[in-house]
Amino acid sequence: MSDDTTKLVPPPLKNDCFSLPPGVDWAPVDQAHALLKDRLTTVVGIEIVPLDQALGRILASSVTAPRANPPQANTAVDGYGVAAANLGTGTHSLPLVDGRSAAGAPYDGHVPAGHAIRVLTGASIPDGVDTVVLQEDVTRGEIGGKAQIAFNGPLKPGANTRKAGEDAKQGAEILPAGRMITPADLALLAATGVSVVSVRNRLRVAVISTGDELAEAGTMAASHQIYDANRPMLLAMIEQFGFTPVDMGRAPDDRDALRAILDQAATLADVILTSGGASAGDEDHVSALLSETGSMALWRIAIKPGRPLALAVWNGAPVFGLPGNPVAAMVCTLMFARPAMGVLAGQGWFMPEPLMLPAAFEKNKKAGRREYLRARLRGGCVEVFASEGSGRVSGLSWAEGLVDLPEEAMEISKGTLVRYIPYVAFGL
Ligand code: AMP
Ligand code: MG
Repeated sequence: MSDDTTKLVPPPLKNDCFSLPPGVDWAPVDQAHALLKDRLTTVVGIEIVPLDQALGRILASSVTAPRANPPQANTAVDGYGVAAANLGTGTHSLPLVDGRSAAGAPYDGHVPAGHAIRVLTGASIPDGVDTVVLQEDVTRGEIGGKAQIAFNGPLKPGANTRKAGEDAKQGAEILPAGRMITPADLALLAATGVSVVSVRNRLRVAVISTGDELAEAGTMAASHQIYDANRPMLLAMIEQFGFTPVDMGRAPDDRDALRAILDQAATLADVILTSGGASAGDEDHVSALLSETGSMALWRIAIKPGRPLALAVWNGAPVFGLPGNPVAAMVCTLMFARPAMGVLAGQGWFMPEPLMLPAAFEKNKKAGRREYLRARLRGGCVEVFASEGSGRVSGLSWAEGLVDLPEEAMEISKGTLVRYIPYVAFGL
C-alpha cells in the first residue's frame, strides 16, 4: 500500500512479538501482562476531529490550553465588589457606584477607593476591586438618596473571587497523550478554548467465532448445536471499549474456511479476536492454522477460568485466540486482550484499578492459579455466583464484575478484603 509520494514503512509489530522467552511455557498473569506490554506498540494512525466528535477518542498527543481558564478574574458569588485594603475589623459603610458587573456584561469604569459595586456570579472583577463581600453578609439601603452597603470587616483579600488562570494556565498541559476523552474532558477542552483535537484512528477489532457446533441466533439450531454466544458478547464489548467492531461471522472447524476468514479479517481490522479452537486438540484449528505463520505462541497462563491463549500475527494483524467457553472468553478478553488493545490503540496498557472490598462469601482458594470469580457488589460486600463452571453464561450475565484472587492460597471468610473489578470500569 504505497505510491511514489509515500515511503515504505515497516510493519508496526514484529512477527515474533508474542514469542515466549526461552524456558517459559507457563506464565503467571503478571508475567503475561509484562510481556504483552513490552512487545506491543500502537498500530493506528492519527486524525484531527472537532470536539463534538471527540468523545471516547484517544488523544494522539498531549493538549495544552490555548487560553487560561478563567481568562480574567471573576466573582464566584453574587455580592459586592470592594478593594479589601483599609477594610479591617469593624463595621464599614460604603457608597455604591452606579452600574454593576454581571456575567457577560462587565463594568467598564473604575471603582474609586472607598466605594463598592454590585457584582453577580461569573462577572469580571471591575477595575479597582479585588474582593467580593457575599450578598448575604451585606445590608443595603440608602443614605441621603445614595445607595450604600454596610458589612463587617475584616475581609480576606481576594475572598469570593476566582483568579485568572486558577483552573488552567494558558500553555499548561491539560490532558496527556493516550487519554480516552470523557464528557468532563470535553468541558475542560472547551473551557480552555480547544476546538479540535488530534486523536488516534479507532482501533478496528475483528471477531470470529469458530466451531462446527455453533448456530447463529435467530436460526433453527439442531439438537447437537449451540447458539454462538461469544460473538454477540465480544462485538458488544468492543463497541463499549470505544473500538470499532468488525463482525467476521462464524468459521467452521475447517482450516481453509478459517484461513480465508482470517485473511479477510486482517485486511479489514487492526486486531483479530477468535474464540474456540485455540488449544492443542484435533479440532483446534485456530491454533493449528496460527502455528503455520511461525508467529504463534500458545500461552499457558496460570488463570482460572482459562485455557491456553493462542497469540499470533496474521498478515500483520495481531490475533488473540480466546478460549471457546464464554466465561473464559470474557475473562481473557478483559484481562489480556483489552489491556493489550489499549497499547495497540494508542491509549497505553489499560487495566482498571481493583477496589478492595469485603467478601460476602467463603472460599478456600488453593495455591497455583490466579482466579477470577463472577461477582457483584451488594450492600457494600462482594458476592459471587454460585457456580464456577466456565460454561455458565447465566453467571456472566448475573455478575457485575470480577473478583480477582491472587496465585497464592487464600482462606476467604465473610469480611475478608478481596480485589473487585466492576465491569463498568471497562465501560461495560
Ligand atoms: P473450544 O475452545 O473450541 O474447545 O470450545 C470450548 C467450549 O466452548 C465448547 O464447549 C464449545 O462448544 C464452547 N464454545 C466455543 N465457541 C463458542 C461460542 N461462540 N459460543 C458459545 N460456546 C462456545
Ligand atoms: Mg471448538
